[in-house]
Amino acid sequence: MFSQPDNRIGSSDTRDIKGRNAFDPDFYREVLPELTERLIEYLQDNSLRGVRTADPSQLLLRARALQDGSRQSIPVSRRLLDVLDLHMDTGIAVSSKGYMGRQYSSVPPVAAIYDLISAALPQPATFYEGGPLPNVADKLISEEFGAFLNWELGTFDMVSTTGASLANLTAVLAARNRRVGLSWEEGTSDVDGLTPCIAIGADSHYSVERIAGIIGIGQSNVIKLPLDEKRRISVPHAREILLSAKESGRRVFCVVASAGTTSTGTNDPLAELSQISQQIDAWFHVDAAHNGALLVSDQYRDRVSGLRYADSFCVDAHKTLFVPAACTLLFYRDKESARSAFPSYASYVQERDDNPISAFESGIKNFECTKRPSILNLWVTWLLYGRGFFSEKIETLVDRTQEAYDLIDAAEDFVALHEPDFNILCFRYQPPGISGEDLGKLQLLIRDMLLSEGRFFISKVELDETPALRLVIMNHEISRDELSELIANIRRIGAYIRPRMLAL
Ligand SMILES: *Cc1c(COP(=O)(O)O)cnc(C)c1O
Repeated sequence: MFSQPDNRIGSSDTRDIKGRNAFDPDFYREVLPELTERLIEYLQDNSLRGVRTADPSQLLLRARALQDGSRQSIPVSRRLLDVLDLHMDTGIAVSSKGYMGRQYSSVPPVAAIYDLISAALPQPATFYEGGPLPNVADKLISEEFGAFLNWELGTFDMVSTTGASLANLTAVLAARNRRVGLSWEEGTSDVDGLTPCIAIGADSHYSVERIAGIIGIGQSNVIKLPLDEKRRISVPHAREILLSAKESGRRVFCVVASAGTTSTGTNDPLAELSQISQQIDAWFHVDAAHNGALLVSDQYRDRVSGLRYADSFCVDAHKTLFVPAACTLLFYRDKESARSAFPSYASYVQERDDNPISAFESGIKNFECTKRPSILNLWVTWLLYGRGFFSEKIETLVDRTQEAYDLIDAAEDFVALHEPDFNILCFRYQPPGISGEDLGKLQLLIRDMLLSEGRFFISKVELDETPALRLVIMNHEISRDELSELIANIRRIGAYIRPRMLAL
């Protein structure tokens, strides 16, 4: 028979010890002051902290202990703070200067506060009726970016989505519906004897590769465009492959490039690829989830200025515009295209005819029905602190990553694997006399040990089938000091591990 665990969630008494039910707004007053103190203490902690990777079984025990029925007599606000403590204790400390490993950043408090507000006052953002302000905020943010692209007001469009994975899928669907006959109505099938295909960079994000399976063209109809020595899509190869696709019975209806790639942050040659796409009547989409934010910087905008030629591109504001996840901007150069991803109609939420509201309605451009109004976190931060808040931080990250490159490039026992286009940098610790499998193994062992020491957090990636170390500089407070310290630590760990590797 089943044994009943004695600490399942819930109790028969749903009121707190002051007799209030869970909806009582007075709870904000009770809990926010102390919660605020704890957040400040955590965020102002200056120590170098990576991640204390919690053993899942240990974490399960600690989390289960919080459910224990005997705790019911402790006030709800106290028990909430206990959960917060566990939360802070077990995640990556993104506010620490030891954090150099993932693509998300600490957020400006105003964005987090607005996230709380939009959770407290639900306004699902997909339909104007339910979320008037978020739909208007979409328009206002869209106008800001249109100006960076020199796109003419009124000709382009933007819809916000929950993540770039969804934005990429949405864009390729729009491309398919526009370029491949009646695929929305009748399914995707051969057109004039040609098989529908997409072409993507060999270093594309995994969400891009998945699209082929989701839209039903199949993985065998994904053409992977080879990279050049700078890990960008090679233009001569792309030209040759794309211009000759027809001869091998393939209709490439969409080309997906990156700005930048997730592994190395590399920007593909956008202007050239857009031209080739045009030649074969393919839609040109750019996954600019990570580097698209460079548009905001006057100093570095030219690194992604080719985005203006894209039929569509996306930017993850929850990565490089530093707001809470998930908030992605999906842009269409031609506003009519925005409505072609999901051309069906639902009478309970949509109108048949255009009216003053329809221009603000994101539902038809959007896979999601209920959608968090995360755009408000971006818009509110933008209106209160201005574009300068974003561009200053972005420029600091570019400069700091360049500094990391210079330090690594100058070190004889390190090899930088590419020049950074933004804030991602891959490298290896490579003292003389090590190569092949050992070289890769050494990187992984170094990273494991570095993480277990708990002061630095960096990531890893495989490049040319050999593991490498990967920095993502998301904390603008990181200085040359922390970078030098990281390098010294890697060198120390590497020197310790290497003679012991034979025994492993
Ligand atoms: C992070 C990332 C994605 C996925 O975006 P989500 O917002 O996590 O869904 C796609 N492409 C690139 C280049 C990325 O860096």
